[in-house]
Amino acid sequence: MVRVNLGADGLATGVTYVDLMTGEEHEQPADVVILSGYTMSNVKLLMVSRSDAHPDGIGNDRGQVGRNATHQIWQSPTTGVFEGERFNLFAGNTSTIKVIHDFYGHVIDHADLDFIGGSSIFSTIGEREPVTSAGDLPITGDQNWGRAWKEALRNHWGRFVPITIQGESPAYAQPDLEHDPYTRDAYGQPLLRYTFQRPDNDLKVYRFIAEQCRRIMEEMGPSEMDFTEEIETYNIHEYKSTHIQGGAIMGADAGDSVTNSYGQVWDTPNVFVTGAALYPQNPAANPTGTLAALAYRTGDAIRDTYLRDPERIMS
Ligand SMILES: Cc1cc2nc3c(=O)[nH]c(=O)nc-3n(C[C@H](O)[C@H](O)[C@H](O)COP(=O)(O)OP(=O)(O)OC[C@H]3O[C@@H](n4cnc5c(N)ncnc54)[C@H](O)[C@@H]3O)c2cc1C
Repeated sequence: MVRVNLGADGLATGVTYVDLMTGEEHEQPADVVILSGYTMSNVKLLMVSRSDAHPDGIGNDRGQVGRNATHQIWQSPTTGVFEGERFNLFAGNTSTIKVIHDFYGHVIDHADLDFIGGSSIFSTIGEREPVTSAGDLPITGDQNWGRAWKEALRNHWGRFVPITIQGESPAYAQPDLEHDPYTRDAYGQPLLRYTFQRPDNDLKVYRFIAEQCRRIMEEMGPSEMDFTEEIETYNIHEYKSTHIQGGAIMGADAGDSVTNSYGQVWDTPNVFVTGAALYPQNPAANPTGTLAALAYRTGDAIRDTYLRDPERIMS
């Protein structure tokens, strides 16, 4: 699906999609359109669907699409080696990890802290395989090649444990998701460009939570450990969380959000958005359970309320 089609009255009339086998475009008429791609796909589809009534895209009559995009903090501040232990971390999976919930933003007392938000802290995920996990060994110093490194890898690969954090990174009103002015996709549409630079608050959350991780690791009594005091610069070649949210946020007021709480777009009420693009903030937890619940809520509301009185904003 490449765009939502719009009528002279500003409402959606359906969508255009491309048959990938033939390259032909087709129009699918529809009374209601639900955008249910991933966060960024939804934002992009809103932006590229334009008409005289929506010169900057659907939901964007007040310039809100692309704002309040959020990432998360993801890093392992400390790793310990436990001589003589064997953790079998090639086994296990994400759902078996132990999570400490005591440092979420709404749990910590911020009275003497100079940041907002917080983080979860958890044990290593498991599913460890040699190639991508080798770089996490804490005992190789700056040298990750050669005889000493191979020896360390052989001796310690089954014996090291990182403590990892998934932290909150607050939303800011600047447009972080925008049309890329230089590159276009296979359908001639501008790619979506995401600009993210860690705000000061992220650095402070990290320092505070990393310190808790260091204390926990020391209590665990490793034979060796490392500790990273400052958050790493953001990059896209290492895993840095795939929980990108916002960009088409829900809210109570059309002046500072894109949709209402049902994902119904304020300025185009027969278009709905699902998924994490709706989230006004990005807490330290995983996003998918909540967005699935919200999608059910939107479905129920379309069936039970919207279809009885189409094109009205629900409340
Ligand atoms: C590596 C990884 C690990 C993750 N781990 C976790 C986790 O542990 N816990 C957690 O809660 N979340 C996790 N997430 C996030 C989770 O995957 C998303 O929150 C969730 O999938 C979002 O659901 P969705 O239905 O909004 O979008 P999606 O699941 O992305 O579904 C969107 C669908 O729309 C399709 N689509 C997109 N654009 C178009 C288009 N233009 N036309 C037609 N179809 C389109 C896509 O192909 C896709 O099938 C992870 C994500 C990744 C990438």
